[in-house]
Amino acid sequence: MESIVIVGAGHSGGKAAQALRKHGFAGKIALVGSEAHPPYDRPPLSKAVLLGKKPTEACFFKPVQWYEENGIDLFLGRTVERIDRPEKLICLDDGQELRYGRLLLATGARPNELRVPGGKLDGVSQLRTTLDAALILPWLSKGRHLIVVGAGFIGLEVAAAASELGCAVTVLEAAPSALMRSLPERITHLLIDTHKEHGVDVRFGVHVASIEGNGKVSAVGLTNREVLPCDAVVYGIGVTPNTALAEEAGLTVRNGILVGPDLRTTDDDIFACGDACVFWSPLYQREIRLESWKNAEDQADVAARGLMGESVAYSPVPWFWSNQYDVSLQVAGMPTLGANIVERPIGGGRLFFSLAHNGELVGVSAPLRHTRCRL
Ligand code: FAD
Repeated sequence: MESIVIVGAGHSGGKAAQALRKHGFAGKIALVGSEAHPPYDRPPLSKAVLLGKKPTEACFFKPVQWYEENGIDLFLGRTVERIDRPEKLICLDDGQELRYGRLLLATGARPNELRVPGGKLDGVSQLRTTLDAALILPWLSKGRHLIVVGAGFIGLEVAAAASELGCAVTVLEAAPSALMRSLPERITHLLIDTHKEHGVDVRFGVHVASIEGNGKVSAVGLTNREVLPCDAVVYGIGVTPNTALAEEAGLTVRNGILVGPDLRTTDDDIFACGDACVFWSPLYQREIRLESWKNAEDQADVAARGLMGESVAYSPVPWFWSNQYDVSLQVAGMPTLGANIVERPIGGGRLFFSLAHNGELVGVSAPLRHTRCRL
C-alpha cells in the first residue's frame, strides 16, 4: 500500500494518522479537513474551555509541526467534495485531486440546526468546534441570562459552565426528561436535581417557536406564547452524521456509513470510523452508531490496522463520560436497554446497574461527585 488518504481531520481522523505511523506504515498519508485547525479534542470545549481554564490551542492532539516531522500531509481548511471510486481519487473544493490506495472516511457529525425564525441571529450558536467555543465564551459573563435549548449532554454541560460563571441559566427541553436517548430517567433526575441546586431553571415539554431580537437575540418565544428574555442562546439538539460523500460515492449508508467488524465499508478499499459510521454490535445484537470520545479513539486504531491489511474486529462495550459541576458521570454499555435498575453504593457515590428482562447486565451508570469519589 503506497498511499492512504484520510477525509476528516477531527478526532478519529487525526488519531488514525497517528496510529498508522505507530503501527509502522511507511507510505504516504494525507489528512484533509474542513476546519482550519489540526485535529483536536472536543470534550474540553463544553467544559474547561468555556470555564476559561483551557485555551483552545491546548486541545490540539499534536502541533502542526508533528505532522510535518512524521511525513503526514495536512490539508487544512479544505473540504473533500467527491470520491471517484473507479479512479481511486478524491476531489477537493479548490479543484485539487489526491490519489489513494486506501481511503478512510472520518467525517464525524454536524449539529442539527435550530430551524425557527431568528435561529441565525447574533448571540445564537451551536457548539461543535473551537470557533463555536470562542464565539460563546464572551457571552458567559456574570449576570447575563443564557438560554440553552436541548437538555442533552452538550446543552447540560454548557448550562453547568454558564451557571458556574455566574450567569442566570434556563434550559428548554421538548422531551419530558433529559438525555432520553442515553440514560434511564432515574439517573437523569439526579443530574437535573444538581442543576436545580445551582439555580438553573430546567423546563421540560416546552417547544421553541422563535428567537426574537433586532439583529441580536433578546428573547426566546415558546409555542405556548411565553416569551423568555435572554442575552444569548446556545442549542444542542442532536447531531447528524456526515455521510453525503459516502452516499454520493455509492457506499451503503443508513444512520451512518455502514461498516463491517473491521470498519471496512461496502468498498474493500474504503474504511470509516468515528461518529460518521454505523456498525453491527455482536454484544447488543443491533446496528449502533456511537458519538463518543472513546469510540473515536478506539475505532481510529482499528481502522488504521485495517488500512494496513490487518483484520481486527471492533466489538466495544460503549463508554462515555460527562462532567457537570463537581459531578463526573461515567456510563458503560447501553443503560437505556435495561428493564430494571439495581442501585449499589460505592465509596460515597452510587452505581446503577441496568438489567435486561432476563437479568443480563446491559449498562452501568455512575454519577459521582469529584470530592467524594472517583472511578
Ligand atoms: P469530529 O471530531 O467531528 O471530526 C470530523 C471532522 O471531519 C471535522 O473536523 C469536519 O469538519 C471534517 N469533515 C467532515 N466532512 C468533511 C469533508 N467532506 N472534507 C473534509 N473534512 C470534513 N464524548 C465523550 O465521550 N465525552 C464527552 O464529554 C464529550 N464531550 C463533547 C463535547 C463537545 C462540545 C463535542 C462537540 C463533542 C463531545 N464528545 C464527547 C464527543 C466526541 O468529541 C466526538 O464523538 C468525537 O469528536 C468524534 O470524532 P470524529 O472524528 O468522528 O468527528
